[in-house]
Amino acid sequence: MPWHTKHSGILIDDTVLIDLGEEEFLNYNPSFIVFTHLHPDHAFFVRKNNKLNTGIVAYAPERCEGIETLQVVTDPFEKNGYKFTPIPVIHSLKVRSLAYIIEKDDKRLLYTGDVAWIEKKYREELGKLDMVITEGSFIKKGGMIRKDKNTGKIFGHTGIPDLIKMFSPHTQHIVLTHFGSWFMKDVEEGRKKIRELAPSDILVEAARDGQEYTL
Ligand SMILES: [Zn+2]
Ligand SMILES: [Zn+2]
Repeated sequence: MPWHTKHSGILIDDTVLIDLGEEEFLNYNPSFIVFTHLHPDHAFFVRKNNKLNTGIVAYAPERCEGIETLQVVTDPFEKNGYKFTPIPVIHSLKVRSLAYIIEKDDKRLLYTGDVAWIEKKYREELGKLDMVITEGSFIKKGGMIRKDKNTGKIFGHTGIPDLIKMFSPHTQHIVLTHFGSWFMKDVEEGRKKIRELAPSDILVEAARDGQEYTL
């Protein structure tokens, strides 16, 4: 499946890397790395020896023994002219997850990583966004959400229809990455299904590996 084989990572202005699903992304020589969460498809070293000894400054939602340069994100921060505002995301019972509003000049981008849900009180911070980059694990409404029997906490991935609904008050451009098997088995059909879901005033696109966007 060319164009859709790589794990997660986006590179902004050839300098800021968000998520490191493939070791080869380090070849871009990012000036710093920001993690949405420490699942192996977003942080490749988690499935290896859990060590990332690049010396590159990294930000993540929680501590990780294997990264000496790690800074745990709790509040908005600025680095090299980019402002990052973390938005708590419900996704996993085991790892903390954050989406980020990334701002530079007057452009505003949201990158979510994986999403089971984002609570309304946190969505109020989103405002108007030039683009939302989010995930396409499931095309069906509701996605694949599970619930912990003891705590009642949900985890997993919501569906693309739910994500479109969640983000449409905030943007007119949604880019999907992180596709599930529903998309891989027939990419053309997958793209068609995505187009059919998009409201008339919102551009919803499926990103390919290596695809570039200009804001
Ligand atoms: Zn995940
Ligand atoms: Zn993932």
